[in-house]
Amino acid sequence: MAVQLLFLGTGGGRFATIYQTRSTGGFILRDACTLHVDPGPGALSNMSRAGVDPAATDAILISHCHPDHYSDGEVLVEGMTGGGIRKRGLLAGSESVLRGIEGMGPGVSQYHQSLLPSVEVIAPGSSMSVQGMQVDFTPTLHTDPSGVGMVFHTREGRISYVGDTHMRQDIVDAHHGCRVLMLSVTRPSNARVRCHLCTEDAMDFVEAVRPEVAVLTHMGVRMVQAGPEKEAAKISQETGVRTLAAQDLMLMRMGKRITFSKYS
Ligand SMILES: [Zn+2]
Ligand SMILES: [Zn+2]
Repeated sequence: MAVQLLFLGTGGGRFATIYQTRSTGGFILRDACTLHVDPGPGALSNMSRAGVDPAATDAILISHCHPDHYSDGEVLVEGMTGGGIRKRGLLAGSESVLRGIEGMGPGVSQYHQSLLPSVEVIAPGSSMSVQGMQVDFTPTLHTDPSGVGMVFHTREGRISYVGDTHMRQDIVDAHHGCRVLMLSVTRPSNARVRCHLCTEDAMDFVEAVRPEVAVLTHMGVRMVQAGPEKEAAKISQETGVRTLAAQDLMLMRMGKRITFSKYS
């Protein structure tokens, strides 16, 4: 079976989250196991809409301690453990998410962490194996200094999730060799903001990494207003790399080919 990635949310940033301009539920990756990455607001309601059972989640990974990435995490822990009864599953999160730093977090309570047999702090430069799949954690430059990006070594090749970050060369370099490059593009063209990517940054990122497919996600209100499909088309045109804007409840299948469809 092809590797599957279901987008439970494609919004990001403060106002897109507050007003749910797009959902902010992160994504589910299904390979040998089922991983849920960055379950922000909307994760559980979109799982319900898509008919995905939270009890089937094997691992929850949280990149940093902003609510658009962690706020549904505790309820998802309860789901993964069958209401706190079955001691199963892994929770991995940045130091801010699991311990709390600089007045931020923890984003998941001690009680919820205690329900799990395995809780791991992740940091840039580290790797872990999740039921046989290697996941590398990459650097970010963001307002949470302990935040990470992720590279998933699936059996069909690598999927990179760059995470919330500003552009920096070592961050770009950490994603070379991926088939799919998921970029958190909070802002459209000519609207750069500190600690996030805009369309021009995404263009430079895609040009440097040259994946088979680039996917834009984590879109802020201004990005949504600008038209994410138009912004993605600019990147495709400029770089020659197939680039598309993710949509809520979009499903990606990665086998020999990479295809996208509405989840049903
Ligand atoms: Zn965010
Ligand atoms: Zn953030």
